[in-house]
Amino acid sequence: MKSVEFEIAIELIVLGSGAGASYLYDYLPSSSFMLLANQQPFCLVDLGFGVTHQVLQRFKAFPKQIIVTHNHSDHAGELPVVARVELTRGRKLQVFAEQEIAERLKRHRLAEHADQLSPEEIIDWVTPQIGCRTPLAHGLEISFYPGNHSEKSCGFILYQANRPIFSYSSDSQLDDAFYTILDQAETFNYGCSCNTQCVACRFSRDKTLTES
Ligand SMILES: [Zn+2]
Repeated sequence: MKSVEFEIAIELIVLGSGAGASYLYDYLPSSSFMLLANQQPFCLVDLGFGVTHQVLQRFKAFPKQIIVTHNHSDHAGELPVVARVELTRGRKLQVFAEQEIAERLKRHRLAEHADQLSPEEIIDWVTPQIGCRTPLAHGLEISFYPGNHSEKSCGFILYQANRPIFSYSSDSQLDDAFYTILDQAETFNYGCSCNTQCVACRFSRDKTLTES
């Protein structure tokens, strides 16, 4: 019998684009987005200050899966509280973070629960090594790559049926090797903070010029 494959439609909804101080000083939600499969939210990318309100307002509830790119408060600041609340409600979150970044999250970000619960009791951790493709959900795989930032931070590529469909640089500054790896994806989301040099935009502009 002939088999027919139906590809799942993956979408992304941006929940915020704020940088380090955006939420605290201007009440703008931190950089974060939701991944949807066939219009159903299934994975949040980063959970910094101000993101919980956006998730609940738009989707009513948290998805089970959360990707965390690094330990900065605008990317992981609300993780310990959300994970604890969800656990109390009988839902244990699954957090995807590169191995060393996961250790930082466990040691520093989850410290506020340390006297009562271990990080493993609060969260199911999926902690791949750099460049190691790991199943996410809906047939997607994720692979982390280290960026260039003030604290260890990783971007990632999402694969669907072996195709690199999406990549995200998180907060990395312009780094040719890193950006070249992520640029193999069909859609590349630059975590551009538009500082004085606007390095991400410069990479994009240079690439466009090269291709034209
Ligand atoms: Zn950062």
